[in-house]
Amino acid sequence: MADHDAVIVGSGINSLACGALLARKGWNVCVLERSAHLGGAIRTTELTEPGYLHDVFSAWHPLWVGGAAHAELGDELAERGLEYLNTDYPTATLFPDGEAAFLLRSADANAVELERHGAGDGDAWRAMLDAFYPNADLAFGVLGTELWSRDGLALGLKAYRRLGRRGVVELTGDVLASSRDWLTSTFASERAHGLLAPWALHTGLGPDAALSGFMTQVIAVAIQEGGMPIPRGGGARLVDALVQLIRDHEGACETGRDVERILVSGGEATGVRLADGETLTAAKAVIANVTPTQLYDRLLPDEAPSAVAEGGRKFRYGRSEMQIHYALSEPPNWERDERLAQTAIVHLTPGLDGVSRAVNEAERGLLPAEATVVVGQPLTMDPSRAPEGAGLLWIQLQELPWQVKGDAAGELDTKDGSWTEELRERYADRIQARIAAHVPNLESAIRKRVVLSPADLQEANINLHHGDPYSGSVALDQNLIWRPFPAGPGHATPIKRLWQIGASTHPGPGLGAGSGTLVAKRLLEPSLVERIRKLR
Ligand SMILES: Cc1cc2nc3c(=O)[nH]c(=O)nc-3n(C[C@H](O)[C@H](O)[C@H](O)COP(=O)(O)OP(=O)(O)OC[C@H]3O[C@@H](n4cnc5c(N)ncnc54)[C@H](O)[C@@H]3O)c2cc1C
Repeated sequence: MADHDAVIVGSGINSLACGALLARKGWNVCVLERSAHLGGAIRTTELTEPGYLHDVFSAWHPLWVGGAAHAELGDELAERGLEYLNTDYPTATLFPDGEAAFLLRSADANAVELERHGAGDGDAWRAMLDAFYPNADLAFGVLGTELWSRDGLALGLKAYRRLGRRGVVELTGDVLASSRDWLTSTFASERAHGLLAPWALHTGLGPDAALSGFMTQVIAVAIQEGGMPIPRGGGARLVDALVQLIRDHEGACETGRDVERILVSGGEATGVRLADGETLTAAKAVIANVTPTQLYDRLLPDEAPSAVAEGGRKFRYGRSEMQIHYALSEPPNWERDERLAQTAIVHLTPGLDGVSRAVNEAERGLLPAEATVVVGQPLTMDPSRAPEGAGLLWIQLQELPWQVKGDAAGELDTKDGSWTEELRERYADRIQARIAAHVPNLESAIRKRVVLSPADLQEANINLHHGDPYSGSVALDQNLIWRPFPAGPGHATPIKRLWQIGASTHPGPGLGAGSGTLVAKRLLEPSLVERIRKLR
């Protein structure tokens, strides 16, 4: 008798969604987490001061709420206390001259807002939506389908039947366009470009990368339709509800359990060995929410065919990230446009070229002179996260190098290029000054600031290798059908019954739980024998 039906390595969102989907169908599931916290890149804690509840890493849940796992599990999670809050002001970009552009919750509102910035851009927005919606099932299908499988082929055939050969070629070309090319060929106004270009960063891409136009477009439509939902009380409420659901179905979720080896016998995964020497067996599946480098270097050193293992070891990581958390004595006082105080995510950037420049500087190993600053304001939806009358900010910087070669502004001494405490704090000072230029009360209102450098992110979660929040570069050759890497696409591995999930795998990073859901769905499919029995 095996200890469990499925052993799941790591407790990120993909693991918990996968575990919950399997457990409620009768599987005996065990989730093993090496750190002291369940949830991976979802963690809510009083990081600064008592009474201030910070989402330390991820914070915004549109991908979860719009995803297949939520569609399936949402009611059961709500019964376990999960409640989503939303806003009419999901995002804006604030430009250096104090002017802001907003992305709102209806086609009409967005057309009016974009027209305000550039004559004709309101109609351009409507035309974009008219072109997007008829094939939205294909666009979202690419992100919700196991591309390296019969289902992927079926999606291709569906596109072919609907659009014809030329249509498929045209659509594929559109999907590959960069954000810059899509934005500049669609909208006249630089404000419109600057409103949407920062969203390419949230997919792990930059605005000049292949695919970023498609991703920016999908996100823009998703935000209009879905807003910027967050759980009441913090992201960890989603983790709590998923863990409860697994436990209610006799499953286990355990912390402090570092898996150091996947056990393989006769070409099949049979279980795992923990760092303390204990072994746990799995009758049906071992599901590893790890990066390819960990999988092939640490967990499976000799078992996989060499070409696949070599591909896994060469898996590349993307840019690094920094988080800054503020506990404020009062809400930030945004100058000029009062709607900014109600907006969930405000980007500070000079615009499309500004994002492009900062990405390019980071990719060349430099600290950007003028980073794209993501200012998150969870209190706009959930005042319960701070004492009454106080303020709280979640700041994200997605354009940083792991090995710092220099400072594009020529101000900071980057010494040996590693992320020391000194470099982390001085770079955060630069960002703070950028925000304070638009929020005059920021510095006087600070009760406490906590900064997490790329090194701190890596230390907190082994999957955030080199502080890459997205667990691997999403350049085209490591994206879509080529994710995690061309020699080992999809979630099945060369070892039978061993599956790889997580942000390193398709459909990539974010809280959508796409990979965990795809693998659970695959494991719950009736076997050939069961299907034949049913036919009788
Ligand atoms: C700072 C930050 C902000 C983000 N903001 C957002 C956001 O607002 N919205 C959004 O949609 N996405 C956001 N993302 C991306 C998103 O959070 C991640 O892509 C997603 O949470 C990754 O989930 P995962 O299932 O891949 O696992 P992870 O969250 O990476 O968790 C993996 C877990 O597995 C554990 N583990 C790994 N190896 C082992 C082992 N050998 N044994 C035992 N345990 C192991 C790790 O300790 C970790 O806890 C953000 C990411 C970061 C880092």
